[in-house]
Amino acid sequence: MQGKILIVDPIATNRIVLKTKLASAFYDVRQATSVTEALFHASRDTPDLVISAFTLSDADATALLDGLAALPKANRIPVIAFGDSEDAALRQLFLSHGAQDVLVKPVEDTLLLSRVRSMIRLYHSTERWHMRAEASRAFGLADPPAPFELPGDIQVVGNDKGLNHIWATQLRHAQSHKISVCDTGDAMTCLTRAVIPDVFVLVLPQDGDAIKDQLHLISSIRANAGTRHCGIIAVQTNPNAEVAANALDLGADDLMPHGFNLRELQLRLAALLTRKRQVDRIRASVDIGLREAIFDPLTGLYNRRYALAELTRQTRTVNPKDSPFAVMMADMDHFKRINDRFGHASGDAVLVETARRLRAHLRPSDTAARLGGEEFLLLLPATSEKNATAVARRLCRSFEQTPFVIPGSQTPVTVTISIGVCMVSAADLANAANTAGLIDRADKALYAAKSRGRNCVLLSRPAA
Ligand code: GH3
Ligand code: MG
Ligand code: MG
Repeated sequence: MQGKILIVDPIATNRIVLKTKLASAFYDVRQATSVTEALFHASRDTPDLVISAFTLSDADATALLDGLAALPKANRIPVIAFGDSEDAALRQLFLSHGAQDVLVKPVEDTLLLSRVRSMIRLYHSTERWHMRAEASRAFGLADPPAPFELPGDIQVVGNDKGLNHIWATQLRHAQSHKISVCDTGDAMTCLTRAVIPDVFVLVLPQDGDAIKDQLHLISSIRANAGTRHCGIIAVQTNPNAEVAANALDLGADDLMPHGFNLRELQLRLAALLTRKRQVDRIRASVDIGLREAIFDPLTGLYNRRYALAELTRQTRTVNPKDSPFAVMMADMDHFKRINDRFGHASGDAVLVETARRLRAHLRPSDTAARLGGEEFLLLLPATSEKNATAVARRLCRSFEQTPFVIPGSQTPVTVTISIGVCMVSAADLANAANTAGLIDRADKALYAAKSRGRNCVLLSRPAA
C-alpha cells in the first residue's frame, strides 16, 4: 500500500469517485461523513492524509482542522480541503486553520495523485524526525528549547526579472521575512553560496524552455547537500496540471496553481517555515546526540566508548601484514598539582591544549581518545616499534620543552606526560588478542614509566 487516506465527505458519490481514483493508485482508503466520525478514524487509524469536503454533515472543514490539531496522535497529518468553490477567501480560511492545500474541482487526475504523493512523502519524511524526537524524550533527553524565531530567508526565483521584483516587493511590505530575488539562470550558482534561503518561491512560467529550467532547478535544489532541506513553493503564472504534477514529483513542497496571491502565499510560507524549523531543530539535536555518543565534550577527542570499540575493530580487521600496530596510554604527570595550584579551569585548559598537541603529532589514520581524567589512548595502525617510540618520545619532548599558557598563571607552566607503549604483533592478532589485554599491557608500561620518574616512554614487555 502507498499509504492510508481518509476521505471525509457527506455525499456518497463524491466519496466513491475519489475512492476509485485513489484505490486504483493503490492507496488504502477509509471514509467518513462528519467531523465526529473523521476524528474517530483519525485517532484510531492515523491515516497519512485526510481529504475533506468543504462542508461536512455536522460542521465545516475548519471544525475538522481544529479538531485534528487538538489530537496529539493526529495533529501533523496533512489535510487537503477539496471542494467546488473558487473563492480565494475560503481557500485562505482553510489554509489559516492548517489545511496543507485547498483543491478546487475539477482537478486533473495526474495533478491530484502527484499532490497526494508529495504530501504523503513530506509527511513521512518529517514524521521520521518527530519519532526520533519522541524517542529522545522517552529516554529522558529534553527537547531543545524553541528559540525565538528569527525572520525567514525567502528567495523568489524566476526568469522574468520584472515579475520577481514585483512579487518580492509585495512580500517585503507584507511581512518581516528577508526577501531576495534571483534570476533562474543565476540560481544554480546561488545554490553553492554559504547563505542558503529557508524557502525558495519558484515562479513557474508559461513558456516551454523556461519551465524546463525551473523544473531542473527543483531537482538541483533537492540533489544539492546544502539545499536539500530547503522549502520549495512553486507558483504557476498560468495553470498547467502537467507542469504542476511534475514540479510536485520532482520535490516541490507546495504549489499555487492560481498565480500570485499575497495572503495565500504568506499563509503557505508560514506553514512551510514552521514545519521546516521544527525538523531542522530535531535534526540538529540528533546530530548533537550522535556527537555526544562518541566525542569527549571538553577536548573534542574521541571518548572512551568510541576508543575501545575502535581498538576492538582494529584487532579484528587489521591485516597481519599491516601489523605491528601501536597502542599507547598517555597520562599527565602530577596533574593534580595543576588543579591545586591554579584551579580547575586552568586544569581544563591544559587538557584542551594536550588534546591539540596529541592530534598535531599523529597521522590522520591514527586515533586519539580521552579515556577519562588526564588519561589518553592513542592507536597508531601499521606502525613499527621504532616509529611508535619515536612518536611517543617526540610527544614527551614537546610537552617538556613548550610550557603551557594557562589562565591562572602569569608565566607559562611546564607540564610533562608519561607514555606506555604496547606493540601489537602479527602473533598477537593470530592469538586473537583482546582489547582489555592490550590496554592492560599499555597501562603496565605506563605505570613503569611513572615509577621510572615520569616524563618518559616505556615499552610493554611482549606478550608471553
Ligand atoms: P601522576 O603523575 O601519578 O599521574 O599524578 P596525577 O596527579 O596526574 O594523577 P592523579 O590520578 O593523582 O590525579 C589526577 C587528577 O586529574 C585528579 C583530578 O581532579 C584531575 N582531573 C580529572 N579529570 C579532570 C578534568 O576534567 N578537569 C580537570 N581540571 N581536572 C581533572
Ligand atoms: Mg596523571
Ligand atoms: Mg591518571
